[in-house]
Amino acid sequence: AAKTAGKKRFSFYDQSLQSIAMAKLQLEDDLAIAIKDKQFVLHYQPILTQLTDEVTGYEALIRWKHPDQGLIYPDKFIGVAEETGKIIDIGYWVIKEVCNQIMLRTSNLQPPLRFSINLSPKQFKDTNLLENIRHIMQETGVDGRSLEFEVTESSIMEDIEHTNSTLLQLKKMGASIAIDDFGTGYSSFALLKHLPVDKLKIDKSFITDLETDLSDQKIVHGLISMAHKLHLEVVAEGIETKEQHRLLKQYKCDLGQGYLFRKPVPMDHLQNFIYKPL
Ligand code: C2E
Ligand code: MG
Ligand code: MG
Ligand code: MG
Repeated sequence: AAKTAGKKRFSFYDQSLQSIAMAKLQLEDDLAIAIKDKQFVLHYQPILTQLTDEVTGYEALIRWKHPDQGLIYPDKFIGVAEETGKIIDIGYWVIKEVCNQIMLRTSNLQPPLRFSINLSPKQFKDTNLLENIRHIMQETGVDGRSLEFEVTESSIMEDIEHTNSTLLQLKKMGASIAIDDFGTGYSSFALLKHLPVDKLKIDKSFITDLETDLSDQKIVHGLISMAHKLHLEVVAEGIETKEQHRLLKQYKCDLGQGYLFRKPVPMDHLQNFIYKPL
């Protein structure tokens, strides 16, 4: 009986593994179609100065307009895109789309605004990255000073030589560099002081409970002070409440991003974007 139960369990497990694998394969196929049929869209979320509440930039965030399933958020497909390598094509589409939209739609936006683009670890490793970005900038006429690239701690830790030279080249083009989701990975200030990085984006997991969690308060305050000693600007992501905003101002956090100010929206909506001070 034990054997049968074991078998049953095994086959059940096996089946669910199989269906997970099937779902992944389906997703992979759908992603290939999505790239070909241009089913992706970008939404933009403003990044504001904490003290004057001025918009200093917008982060481009990808969404997938799936023909049957509606709008799909990146957490549902970026992982598989990364595993299968599809992120490379998707990533270039994102860079191109941001640059096209900057040239087409930003007539009402005031400089010096930057548009932030997320680079996944695989993209960051891609040997054609710099050449392709240069090409896109030439084709669209976008000034590198309008761009910021967000890389994750895991991307920059893997091969420091490569990281250093890639970041330097991006900076030579005029772009700025932010470390995304800071505090969730294993990078250290010891390493950061040697890299040409401009900003740290404190992960929203440290912000969510900021009002009540004393450890988070100490961590965030400490991160901001350390970053400032290294002449890095700090962005807090995921600000949802006035109290979080107040604490971050008190800690001298430079920039903020979150639903309190604005959720990510399509580029069209930015034209009539008016920030109402709190
Ligand atoms: P991220 O780069 O850390 O982006 C910030 C995420 O936090 C976004 O989620 C944004 O919508 C969300 N967010 C902003 N403010 C708030 C807030 O106040 N509360 C809460 N709960 N969330 C907030 P989104 O758009 O779902 O993107 C998730 C992740 O997917 C991004 O995290 C980024 O890692 C990845 N991603 C998005 N677009 C791209 C892309 O074009 N390329 C690559 N490689 N990754 C992307
Ligand atoms: Mg980001
Ligand atoms: Mg982030
Ligand atoms: Mg994040």
